Amino acid sequence: GNIVGARSRSQVLEILDSGLREIREGLSVDRVLLMERTAPDSLRIRGRTASDPSDLAFSVGFHGVLLEVDAGGALGHVLDGKLPAAVGSTRDPGVLEQLGGSSFACARLRAGTTNMGVVLADRFFSERDVDETDARKLRILCDALGLVLENVVLDLQGEKLRSLAEKDELTGINNRRNIVRILHAEIERARRFGKPLSVALLDVDNFKRWNDVHGHQVGDMVLQAVAQLVTSCSREVDHFGRYGGEEFLVVLPETAVQHATLYAERLRVALEVQCREMLAEFPDLPVTVSIGVSALESRDDLDALVRRADAALYEAKRHGRNRVCIQRDID
Ligand code: GH3
Ligand code: MG
Ligand code: MG
Repeated sequence: GNIVGARSRSQVLEILDSGLREIREGLSVDRVLLMERTAPDSLRIRGRTASDPSDLAFSVGFHGVLLEVDAGGALGHVLDGKLPAAVGSTRDPGVLEQLGGSSFACARLRAGTTNMGVVLADRFFSERDVDETDARKLRILCDALGLVLENVVLDLQGEKLRSLAEKDELTGINNRRNIVRILHAEIERARRFGKPLSVALLDVDNFKRWNDVHGHQVGDMVLQAVAQLVTSCSREVDHFGRYGGEEFLVVLPETAVQHATLYAERLRVALEVQCREMLAEFPDLPVTVSIGVSALESRDDLDALVRRADAALYEAKRHGRNRVCIQRDID
């Protein structure tokens, strides 16, 4: 489905490929093909992926191959879901002619409720037939593969949903819950490796005016612009999230307070200049930010660290906004 992205689809394909290889080895067959319908209810099926001893010639030769299914044959019954597995021989003359050989086993492959197609297996190279026992085993192996696939797809969907739940809807950056979770992890890490860690808490100055003068939608645009610019001003290792309405938290791993202050100052200037460009149609109101910086101290917990940044932010506001303030030394 749509909820699993392209990267995940290739993961599913990888599992399919190794699953087919295991079926080939487990059944001592020469070729295993996963076929799917070219269209709903069609009797034409297309090779999706395949496995043979060379693992090369076959997938080149059969990948994308088209087969015409005999109406009323064993393969047709499996394809229709009337049988979970079957042996195709005399009832499937058309398929055999296209495949070569004199028999094949087939079983449906389903991941949960999703129909993945039909798996065909034969002993083309060794010129031996398959029998009902082979078909039964094929069915069992396909059911097992289907379970694996179902679990993988569910995991991938869960991952996607989780990452959606971690993003702020308006700006697409981490939401408060997630940036806090990240900060927790970074505090742990800084402790473990004895590294510095700083945070910068950033608040848009007089933001209410944007809403009052130009309306909430333009206010939203300002927040999106700020989020985008902070992202582009940050290093790969930095983390960034929307902490409140017009308040953003930047987590700066391996950064001592002096460097964090330099970074914050650079950010403040960049935001002022670049927001003016991005919001050139609203020249009447500037976008400036106040930033409070604090650094992790030995006995800190997350709340104390953020509280000091917040106190510094308050200082910045009190001293006229559009500036960076650093935590004051505490005893
Ligand atoms: P200060 O310089 O002291 O920070 O002044 P300010 O106007 O920025 O601060 P204040 O806290 O008075 O106002 C913040 C406003 O941000 C109030 C709230 O309606 C608005 N706001 C919060 N979240 C959103 C949002 O998602 N979109 C928009 N458009 N406005 C928001
Ligand atoms: Mg605020
Ligand atoms: Mg504000």
